[in-house]
Amino acid sequence: MVEVSGERDVLVLAKTVAANDFPVERPAVVGVDRATGGLLRLAPFPWKGADTDPPVQRWSWIQVRVARDERDVRAETVTVDNVIAAAGYVDAKDGWRLRWPFVRAHLHGSLESLAELARGRATTVGFVAVAELDVLQLPLRMRFRCANEDCAAAHELPVLDQELHAMAVLTRERYGAAWATKFRESWGAPLLERYDVHLLLSAYAQAPSKLYVAGLFYPPRTTEDAHEHGHHVAHRAHRGVGGGAPQR
Ligand SMILES: [Zn+2]
Repeated sequence: MVEVSGERDVLVLAKTVAANDFPVERPAVVGVDRATGGLLRLAPFPWKGADTDPPVQRWSWIQVRVARDERDVRAETVTVDNVIAAAGYVDAKDGWRLRWPFVRAHLHGSLESLAELARGRATTVGFVAVAELDVLQLPLRMRFRCANEDCAAAHELPVLDQELHAMAVLTRERYGAAWATKFRESWGAPLLERYDVHLLLSAYAQAPSKLYVAGLFYPPRTTEDAHEHGHHVAHRAHRGVGGGAPQR
């Protein structure tokens, strides 16, 4: 269990909307605790309608008073009050030079390896790099493969990322009947062509072996990344496992 309580500075990585059917989730913010470098899940986070109240920006620092939530089996979960938006924002400049350290520190080889840790409740939230990607709607979910040789088959997970939900609403308002196609073009496979897509995955409190997408991250690809990506695609095509059936 993480021994975290009192006043903390937390870097906001992702905001997640509530899930109202089993397994349920309360609206939350996932962030990095400045003092320990560990991930914290602040839940329930004050929420009004479709966003946090007051709205907090991803990659901004907030000052919060937290306490360990004894009813939540996940080690990272803390209750929160007294939210103050602090000065400070971690910029995306220089190809994510300032942001990468916060991702790398919590990067797992695959969903498979994170799920193993989550089953033991050692770690229930972390990043995974993505090699194939598609986004599906109603309900919003992502279908992907991990950028790792041990990825057994495509995964299909519910999306609780607040920004993706907000983008889905905007796309629907803007494009009407064509919105689903437009949304897939923006947030599905084409995104992976241009960016080094990472997903922040979290286990549910009520079902620690089940995961959902808490946040979508798309730093620019480096030349080295692009080579790696090409390698993974070629490797999969060679093995003939490009389009496996969705798991769980
Ligand atoms: Zn996988």
